[in-house]
Amino acid sequence: MAEISRRAAALGTENAFVVLAEVNALARQGKDIISFCIGQPDFPAPEHVQEAAIRAIRGGKHGYTPSAGIDELREAAARYLGAMRGGLPIRPQDVVVGAGAKPFIAYAILSTTDYGAGDEVIYPNPGFPIYESQIVANGAKPVPIHLHEARDFAFDLSDLEKKINKNTKLLILNYPHNPTGGSLSRSELQQIARILEKHPQVWVYADEIYSRLVFSEEFFSIAQAPGLYERTIISDGASKTWAMTGWRIGFASNPVLAPVLTRWITNTDSCASQISQWAAVEAINGPQEAAQRMKDSFLQRRNLIVGLLNDVPGVKCRTPGGAFYAWPNVTEACRMIGAADSEEFRKRLLNEAGVAVLADIHFGSRVPGEGQHVRFSYAASNEAIEAGVSRLADFIRRNTKKAA
Ligand code: PMP
Repeated sequence: MAEISRRAAALGTENAFVVLAEVNALARQGKDIISFCIGQPDFPAPEHVQEAAIRAIRGGKHGYTPSAGIDELREAAARYLGAMRGGLPIRPQDVVVGAGAKPFIAYAILSTTDYGAGDEVIYPNPGFPIYESQIVANGAKPVPIHLHEARDFAFDLSDLEKKINKNTKLLILNYPHNPTGGSLSRSELQQIARILEKHPQVWVYADEIYSRLVFSEEFFSIAQAPGLYERTIISDGASKTWAMTGWRIGFASNPVLAPVLTRWITNTDSCASQISQWAAVEAINGPQEAAQRMKDSFLQRRNLIVGLLNDVPGVKCRTPGGAFYAWPNVTEACRMIGAADSEEFRKRLLNEAGVAVLADIHFGSRVPGEGQHVRFSYAASNEAIEAGVSRLADFIRRNTKKAA
């Protein structure tokens, strides 16, 4: 019998999509579900961006583009990425356009490690699940570095020092961070850069897809730290900043690897959608009011959800510094209702209270000693946030009485 490869059988996934399917199935049965599980802005793309896409269609922009993207977008993205990062000297030829930022995770791993050679990749845990699945699928060794609630979901720098060795080829960083909403401060990034000085063979993949959604301080990239520019792959894109997740436009920048990343694209997608590329030129070069309004709205909703969650019995939530995720600690709530862990808690919350969230195990193996967490994507209306957290509180109260 023809069989699938072990590699394909073992391939990880993004459980947000799996839970979304569960939610849709329940919704089809007529259940009333409030969903906080999918990580995307709840806005349409800005009107002027939509108009640019229509102009591209009407103007006959229907063909392939160069694999690295149209010149206009590479120029716009180079200017934009540099200006957002303290004036880094990013040139258009250093920028590669992809069908979203996600493909660059695999391309970066493929470009810096060899299959089965013992090459190691360090990545945040909890973290975006595609890091681990692509490291494993591409035959490198996954080395998770634990994030700690007491450090607002940063890792311990001495832990990083311990994990780097001569086999380490790539360090993946993500700030602001999915799923915790935590970030890395300028000083932490500079300290990481100092540690990396001793390990010149290590590349850095800076997943900066949430760079425009930083609430507390000004955005700072590790590529701005001394000596890090040449070996950092900066990854950013249109998805989160301009509410364009389905348009599939991301951009990565590195002065050495740009031609290599381009070759991967020639081998896979050929190029990103030309229509979306023209729309992204407008998103970058056009007015920024819509992006600013969305950011303001996420900040207001962050404050709303964190305040409400902290009033729920058994729930404690740190204030996330960016993105649109809250990562409350539900260890006590699990104990109160007799749930074995965050995953049982999540399933019961969905089935008994109609509230969809993700559990920590969807973002890597649970960090020892850190307790149980769930993720709320708060890119939802104020009404949904209020009703969802109120259902959560009722669910815990109702079940605490039963358990007691
Ligand atoms: N990195 C992280 C940390 C993300 O959360 C996401 C989207 N969920 C991506 C990358 C991929 O974004 P894109 O839509 O640009 O592929």
